[in-house]
Amino acid sequence: MTAKQLRAINPDAARDLAQALPPRLPELVPVPPRPKPKLKPGTIYSGDNGRLLCVHCAGMSAKFTGYDLSGHRVIPLGQDDAFEWEAHFGEPMSCEGGCTTYRSIRQV
Ligand SMILES: [Zn+2]
Repeated sequence: MTAKQLRAINPDAARDLAQALPPRLPELVPVPPRPKPKLKPGTIYSGDNGRLLCVHCAGMSAKFTGYDLSGHRVIPLGQDDAFEWEAHFGEPMSCEGGCTTYRSIRQV
């Protein structure tokens, strides 16, 4: 039953129901756009003290400003870094959270 139908049948009940219901929501207010992460998915970054971070396991500061809490810029690591890493450590470069790993050079 709609409010209009109830009003036609029983105006008193319709008024009581209208008073019992919560007030209508105010008009929707536009929400400012969410900040975009500075870090790109699929890229590993070098953080303070050599920590390896990605967009998923970086802290909020690094993720949204590109600078960690100590004020150091996180630096994107590329193919040359990944090559050196794997040659030195014998395994593909991965972020500390394990969520982003560069493809092994041995598979290429
Ligand atoms: Zn990660």
